[in-house]
Amino acid sequence: MKRSNLDLWVRKTEGLPVLDRAAVEALQLAGLNALLERERARGGFYSDLPGGLASLSDLASLPFTTQADLAARGSGMVLVSQSEILRVLTETSGTTGPAKRVFYTPGDCENTVSFFAAGLSELVFPGSRTMVCMPFSGPYGLGELISAAVESLGASPIKTGVGKSCGELSDILRRERPDTYVGMPAPLLAMLKVCGRGTLRRALVSGDACSLSVEQGVEARLGTRLFPHYGSRETVFGGAVTCPAHEGMHLRENHMIAEIVDEEGNVLPRGEYGELVITTIGMAAMPLIRYRTGDYTRIFKEPCPCKSPLLRIDRVTRKGPGAEILKLDEALFGLDGLVDFHAKYAGSAVEILALTLAEPAQAEIEAAARRALPEVEVRVTARKCTRSDRPLYPGKRSLENAEAL
Ligand SMILES: [Zn+2]
Repeated sequence: MKRSNLDLWVRKTEGLPVLDRAAVEALQLAGLNALLERERARGGFYSDLPGGLASLSDLASLPFTTQADLAARGSGMVLVSQSEILRVLTETSGTTGPAKRVFYTPGDCENTVSFFAAGLSELVFPGSRTMVCMPFSGPYGLGELISAAVESLGASPIKTGVGKSCGELSDILRRERPDTYVGMPAPLLAMLKVCGRGTLRRALVSGDACSLSVEQGVEARLGTRLFPHYGSRETVFGGAVTCPAHEGMHLRENHMIAEIVDEEGNVLPRGEYGELVITTIGMAAMPLIRYRTGDYTRIFKEPCPCKSPLLRIDRVTRKGPGAEILKLDEALFGLDGLVDFHAKYAGSAVEILALTLAEPAQAEIEAAARRALPEVEVRVTARKCTRSDRPLYPGKRSLENAEAL
């Protein structure tokens, strides 16, 4: 088994003669202590914390940073001067929650491009043509960062963006002849079902949770294993990526420390499922200490078959309102004839609009949705997908209006 390309990237980026677990942890402790010292010196958001820790296990004694902290005090967490800030990303948490803002410097974005390139180099080769199906939102947007990483590998990005219709995607596949895809998982499966794989052979998915049924559906149609990636705004998009072993995603451990905690905030041992908590030591503009991501996963106990010392996380799921859409994804995307669906609450019932390949099998879709959400009344409207249909979610999938319950 070939070792993960991330190993070489971490070793080169950090100037390490060898990369083993001791080297990774020494790097993390040094990064964490440098961050604590900087915070202490500037009297910033984290200045009440100790100026240094004796060991990585002491990290568990520090308080958490929550999404509410980020919304209330985001700009107070910024470690660099305003003139060094390149980009501010704003995201509302839920429909009523306050907006949280995450700040980046050019260096933060360059680090992400180089991490993306290392992860993508497992499936994108010189001369490859890569469909980039992520939002293009101006300089240093996500689509732009991925495209820069693709170009750095000697490959060509096909800047597709998000929200293209079935007909437009079909034309791009035929005209541009891509061999690789980078984008969200459910729209990839929908495209493969409607347009066929064409020249596409390999894919990396990110930007949304990927259910097992979507993963299996994509792999069956592409004829190759999928490369899932995990990232968030707080990790400047790049957090963890799959290696050729396809057994979990290796964490970007030179730039972040990951912990898994239970509901009470106790750190869980390797192998146990809980909430992912990250300390982003490698981010210059806005490093976070023990940030509760709201994402649920586990850190594998066993070493990866690729022998990388970098820890791996499992498939990422959600809890609370975010969990229901994942249950529906799991149940409905396993149906061969279903292309895409949108779900929302209407009072206490869930209304689903489904797009199908052939004549809609409404009863079959309804039965699967009821098995997924047995507590709720489910109503399904299905119709045949046409060339002008676009993905029913432009971004992250969610069961909308959940607070109406
Ligand atoms: Zn591996």
